[in-house]
Parts: sequence; C-alpha cells; structure tokens
Amino acid sequence: MYRILPFQFKRFSKNEVLIVNECGDYYFLDDYSFDSFVRHQLDENSEAFLDLKSKLFLAQDDFEVSLEKIAARYRTRKLFLREFTTLHMLVITLRCNQRCEYCQVSCAEQDAHSYDMSEDVAEKIVDMIFCAPTSHPKIEFQGGEPLLNWKVIEHTVKYAKSVAQKTNKQVSFVICTNLIEISKEQLEFCREHDVAISTSLDGPVDIHDKCRKARIGDGTYRKFVDKLNLAREIVGFDGVDALMTTTAYSVNCLKDIIDEYVLQGMGGIFIRSLNPYGFAAEQANILGYDMRSFVDNYLEALKYIIQLNKKIFFPEHFATLLFSRILTPFSTGFVDLQSPSGCGISGVIYDFDGSVFPSDEARMLARMGDRHFSLGNVLADTYEKIFSGVKLKQLTAKACVETTPSCAWCAYQAYCGTDPVRNYLETGDELRAMRGSPFCEKHRLIFYGLFSILKNATDEEMDVIWSWITKNPELVKRHESC
Ligand code: SF4
Ligand code: SF4
Repeated sequence: MYRILPFQFKRFSKNEVLIVNECGDYYFLDDYSFDSFVRHQLDENSEAFLDLKSKLFLAQDDFEVSLEKIAARYRTRKLFLREFTTLHMLVITLRCNQRCEYCQVSCAEQDAHSYDMSEDVAEKIVDMIFCAPTSHPKIEFQGGEPLLNWKVIEHTVKYAKSVAQKTNKQVSFVICTNLIEISKEQLEFCREHDVAISTSLDGPVDIHDKCRKARIGDGTYRKFVDKLNLAREIVGFDGVDALMTTTAYSVNCLKDIIDEYVLQGMGGIFIRSLNPYGFAAEQANILGYDMRSFVDNYLEALKYIIQLNKKIFFPEHFATLLFSRILTPFSTGFVDLQSPSGCGISGVIYDFDGSVFPSDEARMLARMGDRHFSLGNVLADTYEKIFSGVKLKQLTAKACVETTPSCAWCAYQAYCGTDPVRNYLETGDELRAMRGSPFCEKHRLIFYGLFSILKNATDEEMDVIWSWITKNPELVKRHESC
C-alpha cells in the first residue's frame, strides 16, 4: 500500500492526464494509470509507480522523509524571497522626447520640468534602497525618457556608489532609454560606471515606426539604429539590451520581429504582450487583441525560434524562464510572474516626487488617477513604514497563487504567479478568481503550449531548450546549412 502526496492535475489530451506536485515535478499518465494511481491500485512493479515514487507523488514507508524532501525542495523554489527587495526603479522624469502610441506611463510634454526628480529626492531614495536587506540592489532609471534629466542620473549613480561602499553592498545600474538622443558623453559615463542600457525595438522599420514616434515628427527607427550602433561602439555589444511590445499591428508579424532582432545582433528576444495602462488603455480598441490570438502567434514564433537555434544561439527569454521552472528545481524569481507576486517585495518603483509604489503598473494606475497602491513617500515616511507596513503585507497576502481561487487547484500553479494590480484594475480587488481573466488565459495557454513542445521535442530541440536554461550555446551542434 502507498500514500499519495499532494499534487494538482489536469486533463491534457483525450487519454492523458498531466500531474504536477508541490516541487514542480510533472508526469503524464494515461487515464487507466491515473485512475489506478488515485485508487491506490497502481502496480508497484510498473514503471509509472517507480517514477511517481522518485518524483515524490507517492510514498510508502518513507512518508515522513518524503514530506521533508518536498518541504526542502519547496523552500529552494522560493529562495528568491530571501532577496527582499532587489529591483528599485526610479522615475527620473516623466518627460519624454517620444510620444509612443502605447505609452503605458502617459508620459509628459518634453518641457514639463515639474515632472523631474530632484537630487534631494534621489538621495532620499538611495538612502531607502540601502535599508533593504538585499546585498545587491539594482537601480533602474526609468521615465518618461530618463536621459532628459541626466544630471540627476549622474548624481544618483555617484551617490549610490558611495553608499554601497560604506554599507559593503554591490549595486548595479540600468538605464531604460529610447536611445534617440543619447550622447557620446552619456555613453562614456555609462561605460565608466558600468551602467547597462535597456532600450526598445518593436521590429523592422514599418512595425517599429507604427507606434514609436518622436514627439515632433515621424517614426524613430532610423535614429534608433544609428544610436544603437554608437552605443555598442562605446559600451560594448553586450552593454545594450532591447525589449519589444506586441500590438495589434504586430501580433501577426512576430517572425518579422524575430528576424529584425537577429539582423540587429540582439542576443535573444522577450516577446511581450501589451499592458492595459496609460495610452495603451485609452487606445485599447486600436492597439489591443485577444489573448488567444497573442498566444497562438507566440507559440508559432517559439517554434520558429527553436528551429533558428539549430543555426544560432538565440533564446526567447519568457519561454526560458518557464522551461526553467518546469525542468529544474531552482528558484527563478521574476517580478511579473511569481508567488507571492514581486510587488514591493522583489521590485519597487519611486515616482519623480518620491512617492513609492509596489510595481510599475501601480504607478501607471496612479498616473491614471487612482493612488490605491501608494505605499508612502520617501520624504515623509520611514523604510519600516513603507516596507513593513500593513498595506504591503495585505497586498502580499492577496498575491499568492497557493491561496487564490482557481490557482489553488491549477496544475500550472507551481510555475505561475499572480498580478494583484491588474486584478484590482479589472475587478476592484487584488484577489479574484483567476479563471477567465486575461492574465490566466494567457498563461494557461502558454503552459499548455510549452508542455506540448516538451512532449514532442526531438533530442536536438531539447538540447536547444537546455542551452537556453543553462545559457550554454555549446549544448547545440549548429548546422550552417539549416
Ligand atoms: S513608451 Fe517610453 S519612449 Fe515611448 S513615449 Fe512612453 S516613456 Fe517615452
Ligand atoms: S493564473 Fe491561471 S494558469 Fe496561472 S495558476 Fe492561476 S489558474 Fe493556473
């Protein structure tokens, strides 16, 4: 006789059930074996029985030990919680020299200087950042276009470095910039102070220029490519990374976007869907699309990228993250998809006036007129009040998939996360039944697609997936003729 350990399950195909346990291990059983398993009638000499025992789906006289093993592996998967709070985003200014159709922060006019962060506020923020327990805070300069308030970036980097030295911590920096007006001097500063550059490229010229436009003038693709080359000359090829945003204009053109990323020598791609904030929300009927159409295109694009990897190393970063969660026991915190959600505890954002929000989306919501998620202000409140206060605790308590309706019994729970800000935006409450929400639909369909890929992958395709997870291009034998 054996005892069954905790697991979730889902009918995967006509005659097949997917089971996933608390450690994130998975197994496929045919209907007959699943039925026998749950009735405690599985043949103890069968291959399925031995697999299920080794993967901690069942236990015999080793029940207590098995529970301890599950607890240890569960703790390992949640190790990201130890690094409270690592990512600190600063809205250096809300002003921008572009006016992108989907701008989620509803950026301000280029001369609206009242939206600039001051040096005093920046220093207060840095002091607060170094109160966080994390030993390696990452400071990300955001906007608007942060380069428009360059003096405060320079000051913040120098000040943060001096505080890091005093507190014996490792600080790193990223500037999120559209690049179009970056100067040689600014790039040299980035090189000197190890500031990474994150930028945006939506695809080839026609797709990029459809949404990413200068405030006065047309699309910014040509200018962007010139500055990208200049940036790489000065800070090095790996010093610049890019993100894309999918809109209704591009959802059916993901292959063209991937080709453009390869052409521009990017080291991979993160295929991102549109977030319903700011101008994107105002223009949802023009820029939006239904989630199923996004996921269908995403999964097709992923297959294309896997084939491409038989020639070059080019990971899709979101799939890499999810494959890591499915295939390895390691901790993979990702502020946008983790449980508890990363809001405030993994990432936090400081607005130009010192207001603190648990996520970029919470700040965008405030810009739309709803300050529900404001945690306080660095000029008036202490670290303890902001990060140990009732508000963040209540938010975190409502942001665990393990206790969220639908997620609590979902087979994908071990790999998924929740977004309390989006839930609040859509229902007025951070906690909701997730089934049927756009967030759930997107992730449920993607997980199904990824498991389908894993079930049907050839050895060579599995090598590609493992090369992404391990960041080791050598795992794949490349065929130049592909
Ligand atoms: S998306 Fe970025 S670059 Fe575009 S308008 Fe908004 S802040 Fe400016
Ligand atoms: S959001 Fe959906 S896919 Fe994710 S755990 Fe919850 S129910 Fe499952």
